[in-house]
Amino acid sequence: ENKKETLGFQTEVKQMLHLMVHSLYSNREIFLRELVSNASDAIDKLRFAALDNPALLKQDPHPSIRIGVDEQKQLITISDDGIGMTRSEVIEHLGTIAKSGTKEFFAHLSGDQQKDAQLIGQFGVGFYSAFIVADKVTVITRKAGDPADAATMWESSGEGEFTVENTTRDHFGTDVILSIKSEDRDLVSKYRIRNILQKYSDHISTPILMGKDEYKEDKLIETGEWEAVNQGSAIWARPKSEITEDQYKEFFHHLSHDSSDPLCWTHNKVEGRNEYIQLLYVPSTVPYDLWDRESVHGLKLYVKRVFIMDDSSKLLPRYLRFIRGVIDSEDLPLNVSREILQQTRDLRVIRDGTTKRVLSMLEDLAANRAADYDKFWAMFGNVLKEGLGEDPSNKDRIAKLLRFVSTSSEGKPSVTLEGYISRMKTGQNSVYYVTGETTEAAAKSPLLELFRKKDIEVLLLSGPIDEWMTQFMTEFDGKQLVNIAKGDLDLGELSDAEEKEEKAKVQTEYQPLVERFKESLGDEVEDVRMTLRLTDSPACIVTDPNALNPAFVRMMRAAGQ
Ligand code: ADP
Ligand code: MG
Repeated sequence: ENKKETLGFQTEVKQMLHLMVHSLYSNREIFLRELVSNASDAIDKLRFAALDNPALLKQDPHPSIRIGVDEQKQLITISDDGIGMTRSEVIEHLGTIAKSGTKEFFAHLSGDQQKDAQLIGQFGVGFYSAFIVADKVTVITRKAGDPADAATMWESSGEGEFTVENTTRDHFGTDVILSIKSEDRDLVSKYRIRNILQKYSDHISTPILMGKDEYKEDKLIETGEWEAVNQGSAIWARPKSEITEDQYKEFFHHLSHDSSDPLCWTHNKVEGRNEYIQLLYVPSTVPYDLWDRESVHGLKLYVKRVFIMDDSSKLLPRYLRFIRGVIDSEDLPLNVSREILQQTRDLRVIRDGTTKRVLSMLEDLAANRAADYDKFWAMFGNVLKEGLGEDPSNKDRIAKLLRFVSTSSEGKPSVTLEGYISRMKTGQNSVYYVTGETTEAAAKSPLLELFRKKDIEVLLLSGPIDEWMTQFMTEFDGKQLVNIAKGDLDLGELSDAEEKEEKAKVQTEYQPLVERFKESLGDEVEDVRMTLRLTDSPACIVTDPNALNPAFVRMMRAAGQ
């Protein structure tokens, strides 16, 4: 099809554009970061496609991103030698929001410009940020492999409609031409643009070029040459000593679309039979899709600097899905399909090594930066707990990273299992816990009366995840974890001789009463027993030691099982 078409944006795009233009103004510089990041992604995709079809890299063996600033015409142009788009891809990618998260995006908007700007990146709607500063955007793109006259021109003023028509382009790749709004004319300066690029894009592994100017007889003139604004090498492949904190942070922002700084990171070169680089970050905000089991982004796999995939589930277990970063392997075969790659043994070795590295990073954080670990725990603690079931080989390390509220922690999740054990009373052989809908509810359990009297600490667990967790964590460091609600709890050496005697006496004395209870309650209960565990309450309900937890049963029912 050759003719010019006028098409309408998808409703969500219109809403998004409205939001961009009206509320993200204080963050207007982000347009450049987003467009450069798209250019860089497009070049990554071309390099990947060229693994199967090397001819695609013949035209531009060293693809680059070029930024043009035309002060006369008030244009800023972002050009790349990347994969490009076909006409139908242009319509799809630059007319709709393909991401499933769009509805959630609107649900998450807070009205706070700073926060909403962060969300925009997270939801992958970066391209539209061009309209923060441009009153007209023109995209000229040619898909790699297509003939020169099969290029497409897309144009829009961001007001509900866009046009597409056929055009020609010499090389594969894309130009995004921004006609800058009059109120943003201050941006149309090579000096400004260079500064913004240096701030946001230094870690981009593709060279970003700008026209080189020179002074001749006191006048600045264009030389017609290009010069690189960034280092143009992958940040993770550089020696640690040459990377500044700010560069690490900026790379995290790029990678995660999260504008807050990471909580911590670790950067290592793993040597040996499997050689690879790990650069792993813990974010300091909760990703919107943390609980979406289908979410994949997070960790990117590269092979010798070539981007292969960003499906973190192949690189890390699910319970570490909050981790962001890059793995770059020296040994994995470059020219294999993603499907084959997923089955190679080397990938499993990388996955195990990376899991251990993340656990060490968390251990380090817990040991040396307690306040930050508390932050981590509040955000990702419930996800980490999944590891007890998912990753039996690292169960002990995970268990040590857990934090609990207990009867002596004043509502704060500050108790470790090791700490609990160090405070155990003489004669105490088990770690005791009680469960409830919330920790506050658990703290009110009448079952705690006896423990309070004897000054024995009890962990207060809450919610379905904790219930689930107790199925997998039955002991720690040789000590049983015991639910105080289960059956006839034997406190062993903790109950003194006097109590034992009293129990025997009471048992016979009240046997007739127990029988009467049993009779009248009939099938509604399994058993009725005497207990000395209560000091203030007359009765309480306990469960069979072999039965499933009630909250767990509720959760399974809710999950349709
Ligand atoms: P995201 O980058 O998160 O996918 P964007 O809104 O930034 O979201 O871009 C939408 C899509 O448009 C991209 O996924 C890509 O398919 C396409 N696209 C944008 N810019 C380019 C480009 N320079 N070259 C090729 N494709 C591009
Ligand atoms: Mg993008």
